[in-house]
Amino acid sequence: MRAVDIIIKKRDGLELSREEIEFFIRGMVSGEIPDYQVAAWAMAVMLRGMTEQETTDLTLAMAYSGEVLDLSQIVPVAVDKHSTGGVGDKTTLVVEPTVAACGLPVGKMSGRGLGFSGGTIDKMESIRGFRATLSVEEFLFNLKTYGIVLSAQTANLAPADGILYALRDVTGTVPSIPLIASSIMSKKIAAGAQAIVLDVKVGKGAFMRTLDEARRLAELMVAIGKLSGRRVIALLSDMNQPLGRAVGNALEVKEAIRTLHGDGPTDFTEHCLVVASYMLVLGGKAKDLDQARQMAEEAIQERRAWEKFRTLVKAQGGDVEQVDHPELLPQAKYIEAVKSPKSGYLSQVDAQRVGETALFLGAGRAKKGDPIDHAVGIEVLRKVGDFVALGEPLFVIHANHSDHVAVAGEQLLTACQWSDQPVKPLPLFYGVVGDLPVEEEKS
Ligand code: URA
Repeated sequence: MRAVDIIIKKRDGLELSREEIEFFIRGMVSGEIPDYQVAAWAMAVMLRGMTEQETTDLTLAMAYSGEVLDLSQIVPVAVDKHSTGGVGDKTTLVVEPTVAACGLPVGKMSGRGLGFSGGTIDKMESIRGFRATLSVEEFLFNLKTYGIVLSAQTANLAPADGILYALRDVTGTVPSIPLIASSIMSKKIAAGAQAIVLDVKVGKGAFMRTLDEARRLAELMVAIGKLSGRRVIALLSDMNQPLGRAVGNALEVKEAIRTLHGDGPTDFTEHCLVVASYMLVLGGKAKDLDQARQMAEEAIQERRAWEKFRTLVKAQGGDVEQVDHPELLPQAKYIEAVKSPKSGYLSQVDAQRVGETALFLGAGRAKKGDPIDHAVGIEVLRKVGDFVALGEPLFVIHANHSDHVAVAGEQLLTACQWSDQPVKPLPLFYGVVGDLPVEEEKS
């Protein structure tokens, strides 16, 4: 086999065989296939697409390019969740302990944030001492011992994805739906997931801007699940405006803590309960969504989800005192409200603009490896559909440089639009792709 023939075949819109895909990925990882050929191939995939079978073969070839965790000795069905990324999305911080508190151990590897959408690991690192870099042995030990573990991705997890992503990033091939789907799914499969709840974000602050694109990505990932023997459900959820109120690392941890105490914002709490319910059904802990929801609600009401979160923090070296007393988490020096310049119904609170403002304040990183400021961020006090009167606060800015406050305030006001007419609140979800397992009749 020759790499050039595989590139030509894809350039001409033909379907690649599993052997060809495996050959290409193996050659890419070993360095025998040079970057320029991988880049040409990625562009051919971008322009010509891939079938569901090709995308599944690519996913598995990338997943098996490194270590693949086997969690079957620890959890009957290893369930994972993945969000395609958004602004204010601290769902994992609530959902993981909630599901674990219902008796389904959850081991999760998460990413760091890049650009205007935050990363789960960065948020957890707001907690003093929290250690996210774990060896595979520690990951497995914690999952078995505590029923919960949350770590950064280990270096040997789907290394092919790291190599391919770096080339996609500089060749205009990031938006290819088969390449995105295989990138996400390969990492989940390598981390040992047998069942996956995908939270595919759609809207202004998401990777997928339109419902149509988000649905295509969701359908492809669900198809990969079917063809690779994993249970996969994809929720299509709103990311036109930030999720919950808090945007910024320590602020989001505080909001997650409040939610685990049953006192979180309504939209965020509801979002978490829905994701947790799907995980509990996919993981075989609940027979249907109603039962799952009741379990998740009880885990929160009875403080068991909160206790699991404390266990997670403690097991990974975090300062439990700080989560018991969230006012001890990093705090910004300047805290100032941004007031509404007019009265009206909010018709837009642009998630991307809010995310970019958080990035400007120092909450995120523009490029890999940049330091981040855990204390800074934004509280989003009002949502689409709310009526605001002139002079009422819309946002609260948390900044560590006084000269950032005015700039951030102006930027945040450009995120908003007002209407004289009542505006419908945005939905939390736009749909679900995939089927839940059907319970077998027991005779
Ligand atoms: N997230 C991933 O993990 N991979 C992509 O290609 C895009 C988003």
